[in-house]
Amino acid sequence: MKYFLETFGCQMNKNDSELMELSMEAEGFNRTSVRDEADVVIVNTCSVREAAESKAFTHIREARGRRRKAFIVIAGCMAQRTAETHIKNGIADIAVGPYETPVVGRIVKQHLLNRKAGPMLHLTQERDQFAPRLTDGLVAMRKEDSWHRFVTITHGCENYCTYCIVPHVRGKLISFSSSEILDHIRKLADQGVLAVTLLGQNVNQYGQDNGEIPFHRLLEQAAQIQGLKRLSFLTSHPKDFNPELVRVIRDNPVISRGIHLPLQSGSDAILKKMNRKYTIAHYMQIIDSLKKELGSDCSITTDLIVGFPGETEEDYQATLDAVRNVGFNEAFTYAYSPREGTAACSFPDSVPDEVKSERLAGLVSLQREFVISRLREMIGSRQRVIIERRSSRNQNDFFGKTHNDISAIVRGNDMLPGTIADIIVTDVKGAALFGNAVTPDK
Ligand code: SF4
Repeated sequence: MKYFLETFGCQMNKNDSELMELSMEAEGFNRTSVRDEADVVIVNTCSVREAAESKAFTHIREARGRRRKAFIVIAGCMAQRTAETHIKNGIADIAVGPYETPVVGRIVKQHLLNRKAGPMLHLTQERDQFAPRLTDGLVAMRKEDSWHRFVTITHGCENYCTYCIVPHVRGKLISFSSSEILDHIRKLADQGVLAVTLLGQNVNQYGQDNGEIPFHRLLEQAAQIQGLKRLSFLTSHPKDFNPELVRVIRDNPVISRGIHLPLQSGSDAILKKMNRKYTIAHYMQIIDSLKKELGSDCSITTDLIVGFPGETEEDYQATLDAVRNVGFNEAFTYAYSPREGTAACSFPDSVPDEVKSERLAGLVSLQREFVISRLREMIGSRQRVIIERRSSRNQNDFFGKTHNDISAIVRGNDMLPGTIADIIVTDVKGAALFGNAVTPDK
């Protein structure tokens, strides 16, 4: 039988889809890229934004409409949140939440053998039902970008930021075993993987649920693994980003100097309403210590929300001040939109849409000015880049990232993904450095 698998959302969901792929193939299903010829259609959904849910729902409904006999599986975060309704309406046949995605093949097979077998909702959030993630199948998986892998180290989140749906759909924090994580990375490095990104909703909280080693120790031990050329981590939370972590980054050159540290707002009043549990003063202390210990090499990126309920002009100006004071290399900026099921959804949405749009435009324009002036300071410098692919704009150029996670367009001879190239920066366009490849230093 053939299955079609479509994925929406974040890197965690993409990782879950890889596990689903392994599980389906282990049960004898063959993947097809043509949805209309599939016997089983799996849609791995995202709930972070309403638009993502609407899009996934449209795809599920289309799949049902075009091929009534296909077995439709709604998986992932939206399954956890709303699947019961979709199953009652006959839009989907079964729902598999994030805890059980790695065993989706077994669940699907069971239902196909007997359509009335067992429950249609597989939405447990019991810790002992959590299916293991770091499998050898995942290590052996063949991928186009075989030089780089994401390695999930935690699942779930219990921080309950008031705007965020994640804790409601992905459940409690579960830290994976450090020995399994390190073993997994060793196996990846042994088969030629050069770069690894450790993944979690808040990686800095690693180990807080089960007495495992703290995150900075895990990172330090991963940095010692032979063969790795770059080690990154996503996402950090300022409330748990400790001075030991800064020292581990400083002392281990293999760890990327590009740090993503979501600020969300520059106003203490708004941070409190968001339940972020840090102040702007605390955030600036972390930034100062990163800059002090890592020097000009360090590049900080962030997430910012404007128009959160109750945000005044003064609060918004505090966010602009933070942008000026930190000098982010990149900011992912959003206008707040309420998410049903979150605490903030019950707050009066006091900022009119036109004001949100104006504030977003002002923030984007300020951030752009800063990025360009910061990147221009790098003209003439030598940077080490890992090539990711051919440039989409010019087939003679190559796209990669520097060791501090800045995009770079490299002019040079044919370079395969994973090639390590040294460049001299000659120009800046948009948010990318341009440079010519030179002979790498040892
Ligand atoms: S830390 Fe906050 S924003 Fe991040 S996943 Fe958890 S609740 Fe959501």
